[in-house]
Amino acid sequence: MADASTTLSSSLGLNPRLTDSHGRVIHDLRVSITDRCNYKCIYCRTGELGAQYAELGIEEYLRLIRVFVGLGISKVRLTGGEPLLRRGLMELIQELAGLRTLEDKPLELAVTTNGHLLDGLAAPLKAAGLNRVTVSMDAVDAPTFEKITRVPGSFETVLEGIRAAREAGLTPLKINCVLLRGFNDDQIEGFARFARQEDVVVRFIEFMPLEEGRLWTPEIVVPLKEIVERLSRVMPLVEMPPREASETARRYTFADGVGEIGMIAPVSQAFCGACSRVRLTSDGKIRTCLFSQVEHDLYGRLKSGASDEELRVYILQTVQGKEARHHIGEPGFLKPSRSMVHIGG
Ligand code: SAM
Repeated sequence: MADASTTLSSSLGLNPRLTDSHGRVIHDLRVSITDRCNYKCIYCRTGELGAQYAELGIEEYLRLIRVFVGLGISKVRLTGGEPLLRRGLMELIQELAGLRTLEDKPLELAVTTNGHLLDGLAAPLKAAGLNRVTVSMDAVDAPTFEKITRVPGSFETVLEGIRAAREAGLTPLKINCVLLRGFNDDQIEGFARFARQEDVVVRFIEFMPLEEGRLWTPEIVVPLKEIVERLSRVMPLVEMPPREASETARRYTFADGVGEIGMIAPVSQAFCGACSRVRLTSDGKIRTCLFSQVEHDLYGRLKSGASDEELRVYILQTVQGKEARHHIGEPGFLKPSRSMVHIGG
């Protein structure tokens, strides 16, 4: 007799795709491959460097990612913690670069990193099959940068890393900047110049209540509208058309067409309706939203001997329950149990 999982799987067809109960198709998987980070950014960490959550073996991440890819995931972003700290990263990327999507194409493979180790790793990452990196960078002057990361010398190190990544062809190279009023909002205009000089896409991201400590208030968020106004005063901005419906960034260039700026506004202009993401934490839990109050223990099932088919069914069922939206700024908003660095941003 067929068991419940086999019945569900076969009733879903040969190649069921990840969808949720709100009709969204999920094709973007973010995987945290370590909970450790070598930076202590003031808006993210309390100052401790140690990991709070376990790491899986590289083979285990690979098996889980393969199951996700069999369900229609076409884009995989490795993150952390700081993913470049992870031993076995090159082997993981080599294996992932060999996978094919349901459309028989290579995966889109990206890494989000603080860039500290990128100078030495950019060329090997490219050779292993990585397509792109996004580097997090919250200031374009060294003293402000180092006040935020709390690591001396970090600005020059990251700048070298960015240049090495561009040279290695890990492009388009994106730089993500989280703005906090009173900390680094004086960097906005400097970032515009940086985007043009360094030939990188700078994306400003609104600060979300996902920090380890308690820093977030609505007032500390620098909203998209304000950033656009400030940049337009320096140089007229021209909005660029979206490339796909699930694109999180509003894209702008300058009147002379040189440089690209993106604005990601999860707080002031939430884009949950077009969300196409799920996340896997370093210890193998599925999170269907950054702000989920529950986690789904995929690794627990793998450990207790589940077959790939059983993992598929579990993922399909879990993703069906993806939250409609987050509730930042609403009465009764609850911070999730994990902060950004422990979820995998
Ligand atoms: N260590 C890697 C890095 O620095 O990119 C990956 C992990 S880090 C948590 C990923 C991204 O999350 C960084 O760009 C960081 O700025 C961003 N981030 C951290 N806390 C955030 C928050 N509360 N709101 C918005 N973005 C946040």
